[in-house]
Amino acid sequence: MWRQVQSPFACSTLGRTNSGNPTWHLTSNMREALRTRCCIAGGGPAGMMLGFLLARAGVDVLVLEKHKDFLRDFRGDTIHPSTLELIYELGILDEFLKRPHEELTTISARVGRQAVTLGDFTHLPTHCKFLALMPQWDFLTFVVEQAREHSSFHLMMEAEATDLIEENGAIVGLRAKTKEGEMDVRANLTVGADGRHSIIRQHAKLDVRDMGASMDVMWMRLSRREGDPAQTFGHAEPGKMFVLINRDSYWQAAFVIPKDTAAEVRQRGLASFQREIAEMEPFLRDRVQELRDWNQVSLLTVKVDRLTKWSRAGLICIGDAAHAMSPIGGVGINLAIQDAVAAANILSPKLLVGTPSSEDLQVVQKRRNFPTVATQWLQLAIQNRVIGRVLGGTAPLSLPWQLKLLQWFPYLRRFPARLVGVGFRPEHVVPLLAKRAPSEVRRTA
Ligand SMILES: Cc1cc2nc3c(=O)[nH]c(=O)nc-3n(C[C@H](O)[C@H](O)[C@H](O)COP(=O)(O)OP(=O)(O)OC[C@H]3O[C@@H](n4cnc5c(N)ncnc54)[C@H](O)[C@@H]3O)c2cc1C
Repeated sequence: MWRQVQSPFACSTLGRTNSGNPTWHLTSNMREALRTRCCIAGGGPAGMMLGFLLARAGVDVLVLEKHKDFLRDFRGDTIHPSTLELIYELGILDEFLKRPHEELTTISARVGRQAVTLGDFTHLPTHCKFLALMPQWDFLTFVVEQAREHSSFHLMMEAEATDLIEENGAIVGLRAKTKEGEMDVRANLTVGADGRHSIIRQHAKLDVRDMGASMDVMWMRLSRREGDPAQTFGHAEPGKMFVLINRDSYWQAAFVIPKDTAAEVRQRGLASFQREIAEMEPFLRDRVQELRDWNQVSLLTVKVDRLTKWSRAGLICIGDAAHAMSPIGGVGINLAIQDAVAAANILSPKLLVGTPSSEDLQVVQKRRNFPTVATQWLQLAIQNRVIGRVLGGTAPLSLPWQLKLLQWFPYLRRFPARLVGVGFRPEHVVPLLAKRAPSEVRRTA
């Protein structure tokens, strides 16, 4: 409940949905003005987790998400042991594990005709010795439900950040477009968590370093039937890679192609595309016809980049807005969440009493820079040395010596599992220090 809402606009009302969640109804074209401690643009893993953690610490926070729900194109389903550990630290792991998910204790793939195990999570020093696969909309819904336990958490769906408000060289809030009209949000801190096409970082004029990506992904659903393999897995053949994620009643399938070649694939025709999938995974031969037109196949363009500076006075970017991650290793969500945890740990004590300084914001980048750079370095190494060669090659694939070692000495599988499952310098949720402040999101004239 947004208790301290002051309503200078006679035409604006605060209501509640059937689910009991606060919602606004604006009945005029006037520009709404809100005030909060922290306004987050983007309700993906980074933004929602930061919103939850700040609200948990008692900081008044407003998350704006441009879509009306979380049901949209694929954005990654992997909840790694490091994230599960954070969920454990927050005391909500049991609740989380009640939600439908798949647990992977190993990562496996097929290279040509050979099945290989690439990593083994069962020895990790974490409570969950597995990777959980959960559709991202379920994960985000879970985080929002937890966040809503705190009265200082506010979420507006269908609210798209469009610009920043700058005064005396500092960012003091943002402008947003909602279904009801335009809105200004004034905040002690504005956060760009709006993903790899971030408009926040663009309007903040933060420098982006593009590291290049050699692939794109074509993404589709195919039904799952009795007798199909049980586990999620990947398969590489000369010139193509295919990943299948088990979503119980269907397979979420990713067809990996060399960068910017989607138009060529489409030009070859749907029948040829169906044939290529069936050649990769013959058990799908009886259902590739479910793909009746290209609208059922989404193109996800892959980007790897990062900001030189993640912040400026009054504003910080986190998650993909600060560093777009490749899907390699499926670590992007987890890195985004780790950023959120670091930002909450460092900034919530400052936000509880006022405005974080530029130096406070830089501490977040200093904390997260090494894990980001190291992870992107690994992703680029795999992209250029392995995936690039597979996608560019025509000769039959043979196992590289590194993968042969993993098959001969299973003990070694712990190392890739550690890199993927825990990563570099994992964050931890700090215990609550301060008494919660009451909600203070309010409307201003
Ligand atoms: C093809 C592909 C596959 C991937 N697979 C995986 C995987 O399996 N596992 C994994 O961990 N990572 C994966 N990644 C990476 C992962 O998707 C990202 O690293 C992760 O989603 C980053 O989280 P985020 O919250 O920073 O950004 P996002 O998840 O992009 O969330 C940003 C949110 O902001 C919203 N938004 C955007 N603009 C605005 C605006 N102006 N105003 C308000 N809201 C806005 C968006 O709607 C979105 O909800 C994949 C990436 C690609 C390209």
